[in-house]
Amino acid sequence: MAEVALRGITKSFGATPVLKGVDLDVADGEFVVFVGPSGCGKSTLLRVIAGLEEPDAGEVAIAGRTVNALSPSDRGIAMVFQSYALYPHMTVRQNMAFGLTLAKTDRAEVDRRVNAAADILNIADYLDRKPKALSGGQRQRVAIGRAIVREPEVFLFDEPLSNLDAALRVRMRYEFAALHQRLKTTMVYVTHDQVEAMTLADRIVVLNGGVVEQVGAPLELYEHPQTRFVAEFIGSPK
Ligand code: ADP
Ligand code: MG
Repeated sequence: MAEVALRGITKSFGATPVLKGVDLDVADGEFVVFVGPSGCGKSTLLRVIAGLEEPDAGEVAIAGRTVNALSPSDRGIAMVFQSYALYPHMTVRQNMAFGLTLAKTDRAEVDRRVNAAADILNIADYLDRKPKALSGGQRQRVAIGRAIVREPEVFLFDEPLSNLDAALRVRMRYEFAALHQRLKTTMVYVTHDQVEAMTLADRIVVLNGGVVEQVGAPLELYEHPQTRFVAEFIGSPK
């Protein structure tokens, strides 16, 4: 059974169609990357899965249940955006605990989850600092930590590395791969960076103009692109 199933998703903004009938199955534990040029609908599709955007038509199912009518907080997902928007007046620990505290999770459980996530992300030494005392990479880990403590069925990442410098981007790429190895949770990750997609993905979904051009393992897309667009975007040899 698919962990995330999309059926016939369409979405327009005004008269502009942005998603033109997207079908997709993401397997349990899979790392799937949406890749495509700016404006092709990657973020909109992720937001539809998250429940932040309502599709005009189509069905979204997560872990076997249709979630169209459910609010984002009831979908079993946690999303990390490109601008992490940490609360500046709160410590790292408070930032990570905030959502759980709101949900009235008991104190001992909040501490257990925050400490476990901090360990995984190597930020245990920074839990009492404010965000402004952290580097870009550390802040990014806190944002991921905020998602981990929710223990979601599915992580959704929207260009989480695009605000980092090139060297840090490469390092964080490996950290995402390690995180997935460790947690084995389903991850849906959006990027416009082909290299990021090729290194992280179990399967890549190439989006172009609101349609899925091709879905496949990185090597499969590289060696057997089905359209000229995929070949050029992935950089396949002629
Ligand atoms: P991507 O993430 O692939 O760059 P988006 O999903 O953000 O693309 O956007 C796809 C298209 O939809 C773009 O043309 C964008 O301008 C448009 N769009 C996205 N969100 C909105 C919105 N809330 N209102 C109007 N147009 C939007
Ligand atoms: Mg986007």
